[in-house]
Amino acid sequence: MAARSSSAKKAAPQTKAPVKKAPVKKAAPRKAAPVKKAPVALETYQAKRDFEKTPEPSGGGAGEDPTGDRRFVVQRHRARALHYDVRLEIDGVLVSWAVPKGPTLDPDVRRMAVHVEDHPLEYADFEGVIPRGEYGGGDVIVWDRGTWVPHDTADPGQAVRDGSLHVDLHGEKLHGRFVFVRRGKGGGSGKEQWLLLHKHDEFAVPGWDTEEHDRSVTSGRTNDEVQAAPAATWNSDASADQAEIALRREVPTWDGPTDSELAALDALGKKGVWVVQGVELALTNLDKVLFPGRDGEGALTKRDLIRYHARIAPYLLPYLYDRAINLNRFPNGVDKAGFWHKEVPAHAPEWLTRWHYDDARDDDTQWYFVVDQLASLAWMANYGAIELHPWTSATTASRRPTWALIDIDPGTRTTFDEALVLARLYRVALEHLGVESQPKVTGKRGIQIWVPVTPRYSFEQTRDWVEKISRAVGQMVPDLVSWKWHTRERSGLARLDYTQNAVNKTLVAPFSARPAAGAPVSVPIAWDELDDPELTPDRWTIRTVLDRLATAGDPMARLVGLPQDLPEL
Ligand code: MN
Repeated sequence: MAARSSSAKKAAPQTKAPVKKAPVKKAAPRKAAPVKKAPVALETYQAKRDFEKTPEPSGGGAGEDPTGDRRFVVQRHRARALHYDVRLEIDGVLVSWAVPKGPTLDPDVRRMAVHVEDHPLEYADFEGVIPRGEYGGGDVIVWDRGTWVPHDTADPGQAVRDGSLHVDLHGEKLHGRFVFVRRGKGGGSGKEQWLLLHKHDEFAVPGWDTEEHDRSVTSGRTNDEVQAAPAATWNSDASADQAEIALRREVPTWDGPTDSELAALDALGKKGVWVVQGVELALTNLDKVLFPGRDGEGALTKRDLIRYHARIAPYLLPYLYDRAINLNRFPNGVDKAGFWHKEVPAHAPEWLTRWHYDDARDDDTQWYFVVDQLASLAWMANYGAIELHPWTSATTASRRPTWALIDIDPGTRTTFDEALVLARLYRVALEHLGVESQPKVTGKRGIQIWVPVTPRYSFEQTRDWVEKISRAVGQMVPDLVSWKWHTRERSGLARLDYTQNAVNKTLVAPFSARPAAGAPVSVPIAWDELDDPELTPDRWTIRTVLDRLATAGDPMARLVGLPQDLPEL
C-alpha cells in the first residue's frame, strides 16, 4: 500500500471522518512558580501564589474555575516502578499522591497512596518521557483527567494538612466520591502514607480493574506507545511554563508509483480510471495542455502533471501530510487566470482526508484538504491544482506554526544576483545564531528560507522573530530593500516579507510546480548552492527535478518536524 513505514495508517484511504484533533496541549502561558528538582512545599507555592496574585482572572484554563470546579489528573507513570500519580488542583498547585496500584472504582479496595511533592499546574497536561536519571525518569501518560469538588470542606488545603480529604471526581474514567486519609509516616522515606478508597456510591463498580483501562485519555496511547515515540519531554530544571519540550515527530515515508502503474497511466485515453496504490482515480482531460513549453521543449499536459505528482510523492508528502492545504488552481492551463481554492467540494471522493478548521468564522472555509497519500496528490493534479500551499501549522495545533518563513520577494528591478546577496546575508545571520534552516528557490524569481520551529510559538512570535532578522538583513543593503506595503511604492525593490507568518497564510510547498511555461518547480537547495553560478530560481522543472533528487536528495527533508527553539534576537 501507500506507506512502508509503521505509519501506514496515515497513508491508507481515509473515510469522511475529520482528522482527529489532538486536544490543545498547554494552557496559555501564565506566571508560574519555578520548579526545582528538590520537592517544593505546598506552603512555598501558596506564599508565592499569594504574592503574585493579580486582579485579572486567570483566563488560560490552568487556573481554578470560578465556579469552584478544580482540575484533577491521574498520570500513569512508569519510573523505577509503575505507579499512578493522582493530582488535585489545590491553591494553585497539583497536590499529589503516588498510588502504586492506581485508583479504582471498586469500593471494597483500599489503595496505598504516598503523599509526594506538589507539582506545577502546567504538568497536568504532560504526556511523554522524562529522561532516565532525572527525577521521575520514565514514561508518563494522562491516564484520566477532569474536575473535582471538595466534599464537606471549603479549604481542601487545610484538609490535606489535617490528613483527611473527601472529594467528588468527574473524570473520564473515575467518577464518584473518593477519600484520601493519612495513616502516618512510612518507612525510611519520611513520606506520608495515605489510603485512597472509593465510597459505596452510585458510581462504585465492584471488581473494577485499573490495569484494564490502560490508555491515555488525551492521545489514546499506552505507556509502551508513548515510550516508543514520545511527543514531549519534561525538563524539571526549567521554569514550569518552559519545562515541556516537544520532541521530533516521526515523519512517515511513502513509496512512489510502480513502473506498471505509470505505464497504466500512459495507456489511458483522454480519460479513464487509474488504479494507483489501491485507490481508483477517475481522471479526465488527460491530454489537455496545462503548461506551454519552454526553451523549445514540448508543452506539458495534465497527464504529465499527474505523473509528476505521483513520482514526486515520496519527496513532497512529508511537507503536506499533517496540515491543511490551500490550492492555486489552473484547470484550463497556466495561460488562463488561476484562482485560490480551499473548501473541500461536495463531489470530492470520500477517501480524501479532510480537516475541519474549528477556529474558522462562519463565512470562512470550514473543511480543508489534507494531502497524505500518493493518490491524493494525483487527484490534486487532475483537479488542476498546480500550486500546493501547505499551512505552516499542523492540524493537531493549528495556532502553533512548525515553520517560520523568510520570503525574499524580488521587486521588478531586483536581479537574481541581488536576491542572492540577500539570501547570503540571511545565511550569515542564521549560521551565527546557530539556527537550522534551508533555502529554496521558488521556481519563479525569488528565494525563501524555511526555519523549522517547535510547535510552541504563536504566529505573532514567529512573525516578530522573522521581522527582526529581516530588518537586520535589510539594514545592511538599504538600496536593495523596500519596507513599503504596496508594490507600487517599492520602486521595484525587493521586499523581505515576514507577514506570511500568520495562520492560514502560506508559501508554495517544496517540489510544487509553479504556473509558468515549462512547469518550473520550487526546489530546496543546500546553502552553498547559493554560490553556484549555474543556479537560477526556475532552474528545475517537473521534467528535471527527479533527476536532481536522485543525486542531490532533498537537503530540507532533515528539517521536517525538527522541534527547534528560536534564539532571542
Ligand atoms: Mn510519578
